[in-house]
Amino acid sequence: MSLIVQKFGGSSVADAKSVKRVAQRIVDARIAGHDVVVVVSAMGDMTDDLLDLAAAVTDNPEPRELDMLLTAGERISMAVVAMAIRSLGYDARSFTGSQAGMITDAQHGSARIVDVTPGRVKEALAEGAVAIVAGFQGFNRSTGDITTLGRGGSDTSAVALAAALGADVCEIYTDVDGIFTADPRVVANAQKIDRITSEEMLELAASGAKVLYIRAVEYARRHRVTLHVRSSFNNNEGTIVYNPTEGQKVEEPLITGVAADLSEAKITVAGVPDVPGKAAQIFTIVAEANINIDMIVQNVSSAGTGHTDISFTLPKAEGAAALAALTKAESDIGFASLAYDDHIGKLSVVGAGMRSNSGISAKLFTALYEAGVNIDMISTSEIRISVILRDDQVNDALRRVHTAFGLDSQEEAVVHGGTGR
Ligand code: ADP
Ligand code: ASP
Ligand code: MG
Repeated sequence: MSLIVQKFGGSSVADAKSVKRVAQRIVDARIAGHDVVVVVSAMGDMTDDLLDLAAAVTDNPEPRELDMLLTAGERISMAVVAMAIRSLGYDARSFTGSQAGMITDAQHGSARIVDVTPGRVKEALAEGAVAIVAGFQGFNRSTGDITTLGRGGSDTSAVALAAALGADVCEIYTDVDGIFTADPRVVANAQKIDRITSEEMLELAASGAKVLYIRAVEYARRHRVTLHVRSSFNNNEGTIVYNPTEGQKVEEPLITGVAADLSEAKITVAGVPDVPGKAAQIFTIVAEANINIDMIVQNVSSAGTGHTDISFTLPKAEGAAALAALTKAESDIGFASLAYDDHIGKLSVVGAGMRSNSGISAKLFTALYEAGVNIDMISTSEIRISVILRDDQVNDALRRVHTAFGLDSQEEAVVHGGTGR
């Protein structure tokens, strides 16, 4: 007998029929003799709908109240999944994030898990019940308030519970058959990957492959949790995300996958005095506003003027706050102007084999040139190359790059459900 954590995403519990299907699947795992802890997301696109509702009421919802609103989505799922399991004759008990001991810091909207104390979950298991936990939510001890972990955060809830409970595996059920070489909604000929290292998955997630939430992959890597990403619509084997042990020989494909991210914008701080300390000043201001930046480029100082431009990318959602913080410090920093561009996209290629192979950039840039793409910014890590380009060129470029690296499959990938929202 083993302990399994199963996480079901929104598209897997989108309506009553799906909830019943999922309940049967959970019961099948019980019948097979496993202890089962289930983590659920809000049904379908409910989190987006609740966000739209908040936006219709106010431009600037209070973060505490927004978290109260959003966590309602997962509470609905946990209760109906528990009911559906009980109606099949098996014991099930639902728990909110705080009842399940998901303790976080106080950062509403993107709280980090600081402790997991799943006493009640263990009790339920000991009594033979399936424990159903609301994903995406936690509780801060000092404020006494409910928090959320950021979009896609149910993945992190599942991984954190799997680590705390010492689960044998953490299964992430979704609307595609696993992790593919590209988003199958964009690249029809994407191939399913059987096994991927957490290092590569981390880079893919950071590059916009939302099939797994980046913080969940980080957590799984740190706590050495093995993930199995698979479809809740069939019984096919999915993708194993594993943590190789030191010295383990790993097959390193040249390119594992490609990803796109359309959620970022670019800010250019123009006419910055080219003297020591200015970059420090700019990025301190941005950091103090709690803004996560991604790429940074500083231009060569224009001859004779002693001024330079610094551009960086950040989540669109944080654009207004960054502009406000920088505008406030304009005279302090002494820059000439600020420009904001939210029509950019990021395209990335990821592969551990890059470490020991040259020519990847040349191939990527050639494919982009042939797609008529003008590259705006470039950044690299040991196993990733990312470029910024115009947003309306991203999907076409992604398909061409996928083909150029020989990743196309003969068959079309199947997307079982969801709206891709
Ligand atoms: P869930 O509701 O189950 O959490 P998500 O919508 O968060 O599902 O994630 C699944 C979606 O991720 C897929 O439907 C797919 O469109 C998208 N996706 C993006 N990149 C990839 C990839 N490389 N492999 C598989 N799916 C991907
Ligand atoms: N329901 C939340 C979201 O849509 C969390 C999740 O699904 O993981 O972001
Ligand atoms: Mg998700």
